[in-house]
Amino acid sequence: MESVLDVDLLPEPRAGPAASPQDVLDLLRTNGGRVTRSRRVLLDVLFEASRHLNAEEIAEAVARVEPAVNMSTVYRNLEELQHLGVVVHTHLGHGPATYRLAASAHPHLYCESCGGIFHLPPAVFDELVGVASREHGFTVDANHFAIPGRCAGCVAKGVPPAAP
Ligand SMILES: [Zn+2]
Ligand SMILES: [Zn+2]
Ligand SMILES: [Zn+2]
Repeated sequence: MESVLDVDLLPEPRAGPAASPQDVLDLLRTNGGRVTRSRRVLLDVLFEASRHLNAEEIAEAVARVEPAVNMSTVYRNLEELQHLGVVVHTHLGHGPATYRLAASAHPHLYCESCGGIFHLPPAVFDELVGVASREHGFTVDANHFAIPGRCAGCVAKGVPPAAP
């Protein structure tokens, strides 16, 4: 699955021109969070990430920069940074959750056969978001779960969805 993620897909959108690592640290402080060394390294890892990383991959990347930071610190920081609104997670299929900076959250299509990921412009959900809000007072989070299906290549080759 990993190899497919690296070859075949659109590059992961970065945090966007408005968001720099400094902006993210400012958001963290504004929301009442402390900027510790281990959090700074974790945020750098997310800022530099060119694909979706799960908690274990993030912990490994942090350890390469800062071997003194242990895994449980990374996991705790991920939880706390989510509570502070700085980091969000996305479920891509059945695997572990993947983490992004909140500033670069975006909706996805996920191929259940090859694990391919496609990014969607948030505007594609405008109608759904509007109907859910008007008719049900419901606030849609289009970024939390990827929309599952099969990519064109897997449909053409008749690749069945992978077992969960
Ligand atoms: Zn993405
Ligand atoms: Zn596919
Ligand atoms: Zn979740």
